[in-house]
Amino acid sequence: MPTSIVTGGAGFLGSHLCDRLLREGHRVLCVDNLDTGTLENIEHIRGEEFTFVQHDMVDHLDIRESIDYVFHLASPASPIDYLRLPLHTLKVGSYGTHNALGIAKKHRARFLLASTSEVYGDPLVHPQREDYWGNVNPIGPRGVYDEAKRYAEALTMAYHRQQGVDTHIVRIFNTYGPRMRPFDGRAIPTFLRQALADKPITVFGDGSQTRSFCYVDDLIEGFLRLIDSDEHGPVNIGNPGEFTILQLADAVIAATGSASKVVYEALPQDDPTVRQPDITRARQLLGWEPTVELDDGLQRTIASLRR
Ligand code: NAD
Ligand code: UDP
Repeated sequence: MPTSIVTGGAGFLGSHLCDRLLREGHRVLCVDNLDTGTLENIEHIRGEEFTFVQHDMVDHLDIRESIDYVFHLASPASPIDYLRLPLHTLKVGSYGTHNALGIAKKHRARFLLASTSEVYGDPLVHPQREDYWGNVNPIGPRGVYDEAKRYAEALTMAYHRQQGVDTHIVRIFNTYGPRMRPFDGRAIPTFLRQALADKPITVFGDGSQTRSFCYVDDLIEGFLRLIDSDEHGPVNIGNPGEFTILQLADAVIAATGSASKVVYEALPQDDPTVRQPDITRARQLLGWEPTVELDDGLQRTIASLRR
């Protein structure tokens, strides 16, 4: 039975990854400091194949049993979280990634870094291909997250090139689904919470900025294909279906049958104007592409919110 570590395993994506790995017959060590994750996300998991370890990845972690896979997801991910935890975000991206890579090196495990489309910043190339170096403001408020992830990518490539660790980097584009926290500040859970309560939908700016939303199950499938592949360079995993935030608000209103109206609020500093993955590499290298359209994914997310 392969053994996997999932750092950030009590978070939104991490808990779905734990579920999937257990279904695939892995033993799973879920490591999380519960900064933005919760035990509720993993309370349905039972059995001796699953162990929860409360630990801050910024600190060294000694694992005695043999490990086959390290999935490194630990990091605040929502803008309101990393703006609230700027130093912690930089530390988990640097020291935390260093520790996770150290575990992979010691155990000769395959390693996957959960990177982000934020490494492209406010992109001047559209859609974004992996060979685009990005347009990030290093000293703006979002810089703590964007630069932590860029550093984590550099560290990962150094461990691969110099230390021979079997590393993989996934650049995740906006992903949504069940278990997102209603108050995590990201657009889809916020709009759904507002729509289900018939409250105003808070669109930032004029709503013309775009995002491309991937359903969580599609993303996790991409993780598993990538970590078992021979590809060491970054691979975008996201759904190329691109929507303005105003279109997203309309889709949420339609999906919930809500009486909510849109209200406009100030656009946060450095909010990227466009974002859409070019997934040619994922298609060619992994045979991966998304299968869940936005309307379907919203319905699944709504059903879980209602439950
Ligand atoms: P999340 O906040 O739900 O999960 C992050 C988890 O990491 C939480 O459980 C949190 O408690 C844990 N964590 C944070 N700091 C830690 C530390 N120092 N030590 C141990 N655990 C720590 O966010 P998410 O959406 O599930 O994101 C997971 C990963 O995916 C993050 O690395 C994020 O940057 C990346 N990502 C997510 C998206 C997305 O759309 N969801 C997009 C791009 C990248
Ligand atoms: N957004 C919005 N209203 C909200 C929350 C977010 O208009 O209540 C916008 C936000 O400004 C951004 C987009 O939705 O343009 C996606 O925001 P999110 O926080 O989900 O992700 P990110 O900015 O990291 O892509």
